[in-house]
Amino acid sequence: MQALVFRDTGPCLESRPLPRLQAPTDALVRVRLSSICTSDLHILNGSVPRARPGVVLGHEFVGEVVETGSEVRRVRPGQRVAVNVETFCGQCFFCRQGFVNNCEQGGWELGCRIDGCQTEYVRVPFADNGLDVLPDSVDDLSALLVGDVLASGYFGAELAAIRPGDTVLVIGSGPVGICAMLCARLFGPARIIAVDRLAGRLALAQRMGAADEVICAADETDTAALAGQVHDLTRGRGADAVIECAGDSATFRLAWQAARPNASVALVALYEEAQTLPLPQMYGKNLIFKTGGVDAVHSARLIRLIEEGRLDTRPLITHTFLLRDILEAYRVFARREDGCVKCAILPDSAAAALSSTSNPRFDR
Ligand SMILES: [Zn+2]
Ligand SMILES: [Zn+2]
Repeated sequence: MQALVFRDTGPCLESRPLPRLQAPTDALVRVRLSSICTSDLHILNGSVPRARPGVVLGHEFVGEVVETGSEVRRVRPGQRVAVNVETFCGQCFFCRQGFVNNCEQGGWELGCRIDGCQTEYVRVPFADNGLDVLPDSVDDLSALLVGDVLASGYFGAELAAIRPGDTVLVIGSGPVGICAMLCARLFGPARIIAVDRLAGRLALAQRMGAADEVICAADETDTAALAGQVHDLTRGRGADAVIECAGDSATFRLAWQAARPNASVALVALYEEAQTLPLPQMYGKNLIFKTGGVDAVHSARLIRLIEEGRLDTRPLITHTFLLRDILEAYRVFARREDGCVKCAILPDSAAAALSSTSNPRFDR
C-alpha cells in the first residue's frame, strides 16, 4: 500500500506492507477518509520531539474495521468507525481520570510514534477505546474531524470553563479555532468573538454560525490594539474566557491581554517555541492558565451532537485529494493556497467514484 512517511528530508510517498494485528486488543482498519492536520506540519518542522522519523503520518480519519483481535469487544469487522487521535489503555491512573493524553501506554501515538492514517490500512491499538462506531446518518465527511480537531475544540471549550452568558474570545479561526467556537457555543455563552489575520477564515466562522463578532488583525503583532478592541466589545472588562488556538508569541500575548481579570485562558495551540509569562505585568489580574494536548474522551458525545445537527464541521473541509496526490495536498494546505482550510484525503480506490469529475482533485 502507498503511505505518506515522515522523513528528515520531508514528507515522502512510499510503498509499505499491509499492517498486521500485534496484540489481542488491536484492530485493523481500512481508511475511508483521512486528513492533513497542522500537527503533521509541526512534525515535519521538527517541533514534535516525540515523533519518530519513518512513521506513516496522519492521525485523523474515518475507516472500516476489517479485522479485530480476540479481546476486542466493542467493534467488529464491517463497522464504520471514527478513530481517536489518542491511543489509550483505559485502565491506568491517567486513563481512569480521563487524562488519556497521558496514558501510561499511549497518548498521541498514531501518525507520531506508530504508523498513522495517510495510507490505506492502519493498525489501531486498544481498539475498544480508540474506535467509535458511526451511525448510518453520520457520513464520513461529517465524522472526519471527530477524533482530533473537533475533539481539540471541545477540549479547549471545556478548559476555558465557559459559563452561560459569557463572552468567549477564540484566537485563531483555522480548523481547531472554528471547532473551539462551535463547541464553545454548546456551553451557552452570550457571545463568541473570533480573531485572526485572515479575513476569509473569519468570514467562514461567521457563515458557519461559529462567531458572533470578528476582529481582523491587520497587524497581528500589535496585540495591545487587538486587546483594546476586545475590551471595547466588553465594556472595558475583557473576555470572560479565552481559547488560544493559533500558537505564536503574538497570539499567546493577546490571550492574556484580552482576558478580563479572573478569566480562564485555555492554550490548546501547539507552540513551536517557548513563551514567556510577564508575571509582574499580570500580577493581580488573577488569571487561570490551562494548557493542553487534547484528552479526546468525548467522541461518542460529539458523534451524537453531529447526528442531532448541533455540530457540523463539513464546511471546514475545503479541499479533497486522492492519496496519490497527497504531496500536492500538503503543499496546498501548508501554503493555504486557494483558501484551503482543511484537506481530506481519499484512498486511491475511490478514484473511480471521482472519475466522473474531470479532475481527480475536486474542491467542495
Ligand atoms: Zn492533529
Ligand atoms: Zn492508560
